[in-house]
Amino acid sequence: MGRLMKSPEVLAKEQQAREQSAMELMAQGVITFELSPRQQLAYDDAVRFAAEVDARERAYYEQLPAQIAAENQRVMADLNSGKLYLANETGDSGRVIHFASCPSVRHQVDRDVSHEVEIEQAEEIVGSWHSGPGHDFVAKWPNLMTLEEVEQLPSYRACQRCNPDTKERRKLAARIPKPSKITSITPERIGREYETAAGEYLGVLESYTVSRDLIVLHCSERDYRGTRESLVTMLPKQ
Ligand SMILES: [Zn+2]
Repeated sequence: MGRLMKSPEVLAKEQQAREQSAMELMAQGVITFELSPRQQLAYDDAVRFAAEVDARERAYYEQLPAQIAAENQRVMADLNSGKLYLANETGDSGRVIHFASCPSVRHQVDRDVSHEVEIEQAEEIVGSWHSGPGHDFVAKWPNLMTLEEVEQLPSYRACQRCNPDTKERRKLAARIPKPSKITSITPERIGREYETAAGEYLGVLESYTVSRDLIVLHCSERDYRGTRESLVTMLPKQ
């Protein structure tokens, strides 16, 4: 008695079947079995959901060329208005400033490239996953600025690659003065400017007097009377 052999056609079909997902095969009617009404509902839902995703994806890619053209126009308008610098937020160290022409930010400025980009640069946040269909990586919108606007930023560092002509290589944020206890005032503080914890300017501290329940600051604008618990703010030196 000869062994029963599977025909090449059957073997090929089986191989193909292994390579496809069960879901697909069900959709194609290759795998059929009785579904309970509940399973049937879940299956229909899954098919409907897949069709919706497909339709959204098609719609997205159909409008994409027009979207890219509009984005390029916005970028050109910014550049033409003198916004020739680009500021990128970083994870922790503030902003990095580039010339808009820097090769490291080309994928942000040239929106044709933006929609193809699949890279992430070390540390610098250059894009985000858009939530639309397809889940493409789209480069972050270029935050273009004039040099004047750049210098108004509280902090930044200059890109080492394009070396923009900012005033500073690394600008550190000014420390925002915090109120401290009036009892922390010592004679060395005379000559410094003060304001109340509420932000009212007192002027230059000229002298002070301390008694049991009262501390009086004699300042150039007006005197300030407080208790040992009172808070005042010393302003940074000009
Ligand atoms: Zn740069």
